[in-house]
Amino acid sequence: MAKKDLDWKNIGFNYRVTDARYVSNWKDGKWDDGALTSDPNVVLNESAGMLQYCQQVFEGLKAYTWKDGSVVCFRPDLNAERIYNSAKRIEMPPFPKDRFLDAIDQVVKANADWVPPYGSGASLYIRPYEFATGVVIGVKPADTYQFRIFTTPVGPYYKGGATPIALQVSDFDRAAPRGTGAVKAGLNYAMSLHASVMAHAAGFAENLYLDPATRTYVEETGGSNVIFVDKDGKLVVPKSDSILPSITRRSVVYIAEHYLHMQVDERPVKFEEVKGFAECGLCGTAAVISPVGRIVDHDDVIEFPSGMEHAGKHIAALYDTITGIQNGTVEAPEGWIHKVM
Ligand SMILES: *Cc1c(COP(=O)(O)O)cnc(C)c1O
Repeated sequence: MAKKDLDWKNIGFNYRVTDARYVSNWKDGKWDDGALTSDPNVVLNESAGMLQYCQQVFEGLKAYTWKDGSVVCFRPDLNAERIYNSAKRIEMPPFPKDRFLDAIDQVVKANADWVPPYGSGASLYIRPYEFATGVVIGVKPADTYQFRIFTTPVGPYYKGGATPIALQVSDFDRAAPRGTGAVKAGLNYAMSLHASVMAHAAGFAENLYLDPATRTYVEETGGSNVIFVDKDGKLVVPKSDSILPSITRRSVVYIAEHYLHMQVDERPVKFEEVKGFAECGLCGTAAVISPVGRIVDHDDVIEFPSGMEHAGKHIAALYDTITGIQNGTVEAPEGWIHKVM
């Protein structure tokens, strides 16, 4: 084994073709045995359900190298569970959870040379996904599917690392009430791209979406859940059926309660309340927790007291604890760390 010759501290958040990916196909009512392949390309019929009606779901998780050289994943059982549920919602055959975990092990081991070394700040991003390969023309679920996992080494998602970012309240909606907001499906991202390009052009890192029915409650951004800390040091976590159940956010809630002994309030949060909060952060696998310093809603500007220079102290403590658990320097709750090798 020889690590790839990359400048690990400066690899950025980009796709690189690594050595192996996992593929399993569903046909005649069952999944085949699955195997690793070196071919990064997928060949589809022009009328595949993926291409016509966007039958696709995905996951994202990371593998980390620990100081002792072992390679671990953070709570992959929750990714197995979530993609299982996502697939069912998009009328796709769910990939068995035990096989999902086994496939993660296979693909990470096969790409061992691509797993960034301990202390580099980088990790191996793992992308499991499933899509319709079967041909459709009338609108209906396809009759064949493919499940794949590829990996790519990544550095921090935001170049600034833990420097606070600014959000704008979007004039668009991310998810319909009783729609697919809680499902990790590519379709939710396709419709958010226009809003995201506009937010970037206006100088914002992300859009903050409000609830589509009343536009009075906070939902989340395009790819991260939002958390707040109020002036009494309580963690306030927006709750809604159309928020994607982020594994990072669920872990942060546990850490706040059990490691930092903070009070946690998970409830619908009115946008009106946000100006009274002390700290804000975004939770997701890619960026872990990004501190938010400012939220702009047209002419209204909310500046959190934590400011645009540093993360607020509670957000910083949550970030240090969760990244410590992921990197093996803070003891993890039972079952959170899956050792691959
Ligand atoms: C994936 C995703 C998140 C973050 O979930 P994690 O499990 O923490 O990575 C948040 N919001 C949306 C819309 C997502 O797709």
